[in-house]
Amino acid sequence: MIVKGVLLDMGGVVLEMAGARGFPVERLDWRGREAMVRLIRAQGGRLGRDDLETLLFTPWRLDYQRRVAMGREAAWEPHLERLRGAAGITTPDLQLLEAWFRPYGEQLRPIAGAVEALESLRASGFELALVSNVPLPGALYEQVLRRHGLSDTFRSRRFSYDCGTRKPSPALLRRALQDLGVGKEASIMVGDRRDRDIGAGRAAGLATVWIRGEFDDGPAADAEIGSLADLPELLGSWTDG
Ligand SMILES: [Mg+2]
Repeated sequence: MIVKGVLLDMGGVVLEMAGARGFPVERLDWRGREAMVRLIRAQGGRLGRDDLETLLFTPWRLDYQRRVAMGREAAWEPHLERLRGAAGITTPDLQLLEAWFRPYGEQLRPIAGAVEALESLRASGFELALVSNVPLPGALYEQVLRRHGLSDTFRSRRFSYDCGTRKPSPALLRRALQDLGVGKEASIMVGDRRDRDIGAGRAAGLATVWIRGEFDDGPAADAEIGSLADLPELLGSWTDG
């Protein structure tokens, strides 16, 4: 097989996500909420931290828990609209979410060896795309990638929140292939979740590579590696063979 396009999951493959969910929890959630309240008050809003839970996070969490059945991410818009109405502010969605997300986003780091592996793949001529299930707008994760010098690494970056569809649906992967201009027969999907990443890769008709770990429930991949650092060598052997 001649591989041209490499589609990669983000969490657990490129970035260490501090928990698999992709949004702030516990201490970072707390710090983010404090920042959100400060922002709302700075914009002239009248609101306390308890109001955030009632108006925003509790109703969003109900949608979030149903999202797998919906096959898409839970929308923040109606809940932010309710918050704005109660607080009497006009602050845009992304600015409010960014205040909450930032303390968490600042903790996210590339996985050991991932940056070097991606540079090696690019130097070998592979076209790289990121295809990621995320519960918040992709712009927030783009900021994290930029901070670590990773935004130009991927010629296509597709996030489930923005695309309205989640893996294991193959739709995100199909859009990434269109972005790269490569066919499915010349592309692979690399991920750490067999149910979502390998499932989506197979559904899109791509060869698949699983990064071994705890998420081993789901279809088998065509190949397995220990981490992204092993991918350049694996692809070298495929192309040579
Ligand atoms: Mg992952």
